[in-house]
Amino acid sequence: MPDTAYFRGLSEAYSAHNYHPLPVVVTEAQGAWVTDVAGNRYLDMLSAYGAVNFGHRHPRLIAAAKRQLDRVTLVSRAFDHDQFGPFMRELAQLCGKDMVLPMNSGAEAVETALKTARKWGYEVKGVPADEAVIITFQGNFHGRTTTIVSFSDDPVARNSFGPFTPGFRTVPYGDIEALRAAVDDRTVAVLLEPIQGEAGVNVPPSGFLTAVRRLCTAAGILMIDDEIQAGLGRTGATFAADHENVVPDIYLLGKALGGGIVPVSAVVADADILGVFRPGQHGSTFGGNPLACAVGREVVAMLRTGEFQDRARELGAHLHARLGALPDVKAVTGRGLWAGLQLDGDARRVSERLLTRGVLAKETHGTIIRLAPPLVIDRDEIDTALEQLAAAMAERDR
Ligand SMILES: *Cc1c(COP(=O)(O)O)cnc(C)c1O
Repeated sequence: MPDTAYFRGLSEAYSAHNYHPLPVVVTEAQGAWVTDVAGNRYLDMLSAYGAVNFGHRHPRLIAAAKRQLDRVTLVSRAFDHDQFGPFMRELAQLCGKDMVLPMNSGAEAVETALKTARKWGYEVKGVPADEAVIITFQGNFHGRTTTIVSFSDDPVARNSFGPFTPGFRTVPYGDIEALRAAVDDRTVAVLLEPIQGEAGVNVPPSGFLTAVRRLCTAAGILMIDDEIQAGLGRTGATFAADHENVVPDIYLLGKALGGGIVPVSAVVADADILGVFRPGQHGSTFGGNPLACAVGREVVAMLRTGEFQDRARELGAHLHARLGALPDVKAVTGRGLWAGLQLDGDARRVSERLLTRGVLAKETHGTIIRLAPPLVIDRDEIDTALEQLAAAMAERDR
């Protein structure tokens, strides 16, 4: 088999350099473990940014995908199929909402929600044409489309991609008074991450989500909760907003909804909101395809038992207790099996050293290590990863 350098060379030569991957070439994975082309095994402490919440190749998900591969994989929305309606109902019920609009990537779900909120603003709330404003937060990450980077404040994500889409106003994350001051009669929605993932697993002050919910209800605007990374068990609850018993008007789901097998995303809301769409006004060739629906149905069935949420809560408490005891850490943020580790120095170097020690993790914003292991990881594996993390950090300090 060709070696790591061979595959890294091909990727460097023939793929656009829009990522800066660690020097590992994966060839197989199972559960919390991946194997590279040289035969080394690694504990996966990133889980594809949460898209592999149920671990690599979970037997139930693989079985559901294989069953569907032997039947039908794509018909487009020009026709109905027997996985579609059942998935729509099961996902809507998991969320306690009336209906679902299925898409593929997370960014598409966000785009769909922005279009939903604008159309709802004009047709239901009565905002004058083309004047709708959606409020977003500093440090947000909602994807990479032209419109979404229009309200990013990360220069790396944004610079050189203008002109930008108007109609957004950004306020400090966690600042309810700034949000209140930003709302006016043109405001149609607030778009937020219940925990900011890309920003470094940034948890807002306790009570913030409740306050946003109250403000949105009082102002007659939509609360759009981007649970694409935070949701589906990661924090120890089905949705991160559940920790404050907050129910948004619109849930955005993605990443883990596809079980680590196919891209599946969704906008979930009541009929008075998603009902604004008529045929032809929005869509996607692959959105709601049979394979995606079959895998999504199994994901929903697995979440219904509460087993994964319980694991994330219990093992998350263990993870956070151990992280809190590490020396030389400036701060530990996060919730459940999700943590941001604010270091003094270069987090990239630490993640490179972790790699040589058999642990996959990735830095964000230079000084933060993000940990998001699959929810199937066990206590001993967490301990192993943290021993290696402590060693990799000590190595740096020498
Ligand atoms: C990853 C992510 C997205 C975008 O999802 P893609 O599938 O990469 O387009 C949107 N919102 C949040 C909070 C995310 O973490």
